[in-house]
Amino acid sequence: MKLNDRGLLIVLSGPSGVGKGTVRKALFNQPNNNLTYSVSATTRKMRPGEVDGKDYYFISKEEFEDKINKGEFLEHAEFVGNYYGTPLDKVNEKLDEGQEVVLEIEVMGALQVKEKMPDCVMIFLVPPSKEDLYHRLKARGTEPEEIIQERIEKANREFKVAYKYDYIVVNDEVNNAADRIMAIIRAEHAKTSRSIHKYLELIGE
Ligand code: 5GP
Repeated sequence: MKLNDRGLLIVLSGPSGVGKGTVRKALFNQPNNNLTYSVSATTRKMRPGEVDGKDYYFISKEEFEDKINKGEFLEHAEFVGNYYGTPLDKVNEKLDEGQEVVLEIEVMGALQVKEKMPDCVMIFLVPPSKEDLYHRLKARGTEPEEIIQERIEKANREFKVAYKYDYIVVNDEVNNAADRIMAIIRAEHAKTSRSIHKYLELIGE
């Protein structure tokens, strides 16, 4: 039995190539989860295999800037030459329905979310080593060498912001990382600050 009805806002960050997407998919395959993924908008080009509306909403720079001006993003950031942002509309609605909303976003955006919604749960996914990160980016084979280098440099800067997160999870093996994140979600639900009101209500206080 859960002692709070509202879902958690889970912010998952980590350097490009750490395997956030794969870990997220493994997380969503865990039994009895109530997770929902917030699909971001981006101006980056679609990669082979990506689906508009599922992986991202792929929009133009003009459309993106228009949405920024209309205040339609919970957060947004520029990453290696492209815009990325979290559409605001669905997030609160889903949290109120008791769903755990997962944002998979880079660090500048994550810090904006922390400012606006301080009870979010910030998780930083790290590779077992820097070499591992380089090999994964290379193996993905979707970006030219100079973009890989830019993403590596970006990763080095992102590591320095990790201390602002609530949890660090090592992605040594995808299912282990997903298990660790599920354990964090369960523990967060049991936190006194989240559960005491419902408990006092239950006992009639
Ligand atoms: P990629 O181009 O590899 O799909 O994503 C690049 C980076 O942008 C990743 O770190 C990813 O987590 C992040 N990202 C994806 N969606 C969003 C978003 O809505 N907001 C922010 N701030 N970052 C995002």
